[in-house]
Amino acid sequence: MINIDVLVAGCHTRCKHCYVNGGPGPWMPLEDALLCIEKLDILAQYLPDEVTFTLDHEPMAHPDIVQILDATTHTRWIQNYHHGMTTGVGLIHRKDKRAVIEAYMNGGYRSFGITIHGSPAHHDEMVRRKGAYESAIAAAEYLKAQGADVEVSLMLNRYFTQDQASMTAMLETLQPNCVAFVIPIFTPHRHMLDFEPYRASIETVQSLRGAWEEWRQDGEQVEGRARQNTIAAGIERLRSMTDLKELFVQPQEEQYFTLHQDCQLYVGNSGAETRCLGDLRHINLEQTAELIKALPGNRDYGAFYDLEALPSRDMLIRALEGLPQHMIYGDFESVIYRGLEELRTPTRILE
Ligand code: SF4
Repeated sequence: MINIDVLVAGCHTRCKHCYVNGGPGPWMPLEDALLCIEKLDILAQYLPDEVTFTLDHEPMAHPDIVQILDATTHTRWIQNYHHGMTTGVGLIHRKDKRAVIEAYMNGGYRSFGITIHGSPAHHDEMVRRKGAYESAIAAAEYLKAQGADVEVSLMLNRYFTQDQASMTAMLETLQPNCVAFVIPIFTPHRHMLDFEPYRASIETVQSLRGAWEEWRQDGEQVEGRARQNTIAAGIERLRSMTDLKELFVQPQEEQYFTLHQDCQLYVGNSGAETRCLGDLRHINLEQTAELIKALPGNRDYGAFYDLEALPSRDMLIRALEGLPQHMIYGDFESVIYRGLEELRTPTRILE
């Protein structure tokens, strides 16, 4: 599977947990966006695997998103993968809101998601924009009124204990179609260390026992997952391994690419670009397809580490021992990346 992140616009927020280096940025001119969609379709024709592209970061921030979405419905070889998440800020301030939602629905997309980080004040703090909570909720209400399905992702942080009542009230009023509970992972991106002081601990999750039913979650499953992915549990698992490299040499089937607003095409997911393949408007697409076919998979961030430069398992364990042991990461790999980052730039985490 191949996916190409197409960044037609930047975001209105600067989320502390952002693992794709999002944030405010320029728009891709409409003419370029339409040409690039055509070029991606031709490129996909030369590739053997299923190829999708994702209009990523905040497509609703693009002034011409309606025309761009219309163009995505005319591709033959490549499909637009709509992840559906939005901050709501772009949508709610547009005059053509109805046309934007219609354009998504004409493309077969009727599900949208917002992420909530706690009470209004804590949400705004986390995404570094005043009024962002209000916009997210207003956008979700607007989407529901237009007949779209709305999912709310509750992204765990240490404020959840004190914000439980506010979040329950929000869900009761909004009545989304679905509620997800998300434990943020750690990835080697520039914003990630900013999120660390807000990371939840196992005690945070245990304090939410009264909320699971109202938040439509299987509390036992969430607690189990959280327990398995603390720093302490990660160290235990590392002790049972003989060689750290084992984790980094697993074959990866999926390939990720990113197209920036200036039409430069890169190998690697947004925020983890490793090589520029050139300006999509002008490169030879057949040759680029041959080059892509020869590249290894890069779904997991482990693909970006230099195996020869990896520390020993014991050094990594020592770095992890210096971190708060009860902090929860989304998975074991995320614990490892956090430890590697700690070796590179030691940080102090507020408990
Ligand atoms: S998390 Fe999403 S909305 Fe937030 S800065 Fe990153 S790309 Fe933008």
